[in-house]
Amino acid sequence: MDRYGNARVLVVAGSDSGGGAGIQADLKTVMALGGYAATAITALTAQNTRGVQGVYTVPPAFIREQMAAVLDDIGADCIKTGMLHDAAVIDAVVAELDARALQVPVVVDPVMVAQSGDRLLAEEAAERLRESLVPRAALLTPNLPEAEALLGRRVAGEAAMVEAAEALRGLGAGAVLLKGGHAAGESVLDVLATADGVERFEHRRLATRSTHGTGCTLASAVAAGLARGQALPEAAARARAYLYEALRTARGLGAGAGPVHHAW
Ligand code: PLP
Repeated sequence: MDRYGNARVLVVAGSDSGGGAGIQADLKTVMALGGYAATAITALTAQNTRGVQGVYTVPPAFIREQMAAVLDDIGADCIKTGMLHDAAVIDAVVAELDARALQVPVVVDPVMVAQSGDRLLAEEAAERLRESLVPRAALLTPNLPEAEALLGRRVAGEAAMVEAAEALRGLGAGAVLLKGGHAAGESVLDVLATADGVERFEHRRLATRSTHGTGCTLASAVAAGLARGQALPEAAARARAYLYEALRTARGLGAGAGPVHHAW
């Protein structure tokens, strides 16, 4: 927190015009959880509940400029990354982090493909993510397909999830929250691997189509908790509870997969 009591999160991610995922989900989540969010936008997407119609990229140097503008003045208690588009963007973000040797946790959501099937990270950039950003992450929050892409192998079943979370930590991330929502089953299992061991989070699967933006929401919720000074297991448990409530209360929207959102 800063001297005024702001729990500052700098979000480095892409915009979703539909308001369901990306920067828009991040802003809503950080605010709902008592934090202050600033943003460095990596790309604009023309997107709705049916899918991604277009992507307009931001030059990597200007992404750095946005990060620098925020960090030079406002500062950050936690940095969260989402859609990074390609290897050049990853390089720019890593260069800005390295130039500052910041002592704040970086939450890396390794966004690759939207639920609609549209690619948000160039296929060849997964390697760059693994090699240069994952080692800088205090927390990595992959879903099952992202964990499989980062590890180059299938991850199925609880034992394999625990093993995969540990293997991802072995790539240099401080901790890994591996999300099991993509697996079939009546309950959803997430696995948190930290230096202190492995914790399991399990809850009943909710019958809802409003799941667009769940990854962004969860990672931002953890980031807000970390920015407020919560320890990682507490921030992760609270983030999961917030996401569950958002899934439970979300109203349908548009013709496709509606966004997860905390509806009043
Ligand atoms: N669009 C943007 C800009 C995002 O950052 C993300 C984040 O993952 C998505 C879409 C994907 O959302 P989902 O996979 O939940 O549909």
